[in-house]
Amino acid sequence: MRYISTRGRAPELGFKDAMLTGLARDGGLYVPAEIPRLSPDEIAALAGQSYEEVAYRVMAPFTGDAFSEADLRGAIERAYAGFGHAARAPLVQLAPGHFLLELFHGPTLAFKDFAMQVIGQLFQLALAREGRRITIVGATSGDTGSAAIEAFRGLDNVDVFILFPHGRVSEVQRRQMTTPVEANVHALALQGDFDDCQARLKDMFNDHDFRDSVGLAGVNSINWARVLAQVVYYFTAAVSLGAPGRPVDFTVPTGNFGDIFAGYIARRMGLPIRRLVVATNQNDILHRCLSTGEYRTDGVKPSISPSMDIQVSSNFERALFEVLGRDGAAVTQLMDELRSAGGFSVPQGALEALREIFGSGRASEDETSATIAAQLAATGELLCPHSAVGVKVAQEHLAPPVPMITLATAHPAKFPDAVEAATGRRPGLPPRMADLFDRSERMRVVENDLAALQALIHEGRRA
Ligand SMILES: *Cc1c(COP(=O)(O)O)cnc(C)c1O
Repeated sequence: MRYISTRGRAPELGFKDAMLTGLARDGGLYVPAEIPRLSPDEIAALAGQSYEEVAYRVMAPFTGDAFSEADLRGAIERAYAGFGHAARAPLVQLAPGHFLLELFHGPTLAFKDFAMQVIGQLFQLALAREGRRITIVGATSGDTGSAAIEAFRGLDNVDVFILFPHGRVSEVQRRQMTTPVEANVHALALQGDFDDCQARLKDMFNDHDFRDSVGLAGVNSINWARVLAQVVYYFTAAVSLGAPGRPVDFTVPTGNFGDIFAGYIARRMGLPIRRLVVATNQNDILHRCLSTGEYRTDGVKPSISPSMDIQVSSNFERALFEVLGRDGAAVTQLMDELRSAGGFSVPQGALEALREIFGSGRASEDETSATIAAQLAATGELLCPHSAVGVKVAQEHLAPPVPMITLATAHPAKFPDAVEAATGRRPGLPPRMADLFDRSERMRVVENDLAALQALIHEGRRA
């Protein structure tokens, strides 16, 4: 399988190199040259299989000959062995026709573990064989960083530097990044917001000398391998509710559009997903864009669902690429406009194509809190604020008899203050991480300055 850039001017790569590279050299994102399809019979045959088996069957057509079957199966097995639930992604029912897909049973209690744990295993396979060393630099609004550190801590061929917005992540998120003792882990608190973190990361990738000198690799949600690993749970969830014989809808609490884009890929692979509903918090660029066709940045307003506090949604570029007929020049033009003018208008045909698939909605801070309280009262399910944004928007998009599946993206204990404020109940950490608050922390506060960051990364790597 070959991978091409959404901007059309970077070299085509195989799966392994697309994974190790992250961002393409023309500033674009890698996507598969073709999207493989599973037949209805192949989808039906996924029923009753383990999560790991479904993961293998969904991912293998995309990895091509990058790994042997035994290597890929082994990586998947190891990736999910540390999860706290045998089903990995269990589905629970909230109301008639409304289901919650719990994606928070991984080691850092957020859905990002599903992809990051696989990536850690695949990076290790790819690097050990080639004797290569790399430096992973990631930007996080909290959950990506902890998931990346958890996946890469202690690996021989990798140094990990994670930029997070100083003072804008929850204490659990921060501690998950600052308490690992391994020398290859570096938590960097940047004086700025998440978009600043993301912008500096992009700058580093666009500095080709720096990129080559440290062997820079990215594991942010733009990394194709992450998107791919997330496609799997759309299949397990839909099949357990009757796909391919029965269509389903999904609602996805969305920030960078990575998780929901994985749903789009599942749909293109032949999974009968009728609608994919984008759920945003008050940082609603995607909802505004799908409603009006105008994609305009508007400053980040910190919210109680901080992992969705973004103003630029990087994976949206992949969706634009598809609805613009895979025209890299057209994507480049829109992205140039975004940079120079702070926004662009989605061309009419492309907007209609997006609206055929994607619905959207937004939850205010009050609506999010009210949904946490209401769900606890109605079902006993304690939602994290991100999942509550999803549930609120999903309730506005229920279309029986098509079942709605809302993705629960984090465990409530990861955001205990917001949950306690909404319900009066403080969610406890699962026993396996109950000592998190007793461990000592290690982090560096850094300026929002590219040269200073680059120097720090040069010096901080192990020789
Ligand atoms: C990252 C994250 C999201 C948003 O996911 P995207 O792939 O960026 O859309 C939502 N909820 C939680 C808890 C997250 O960590």
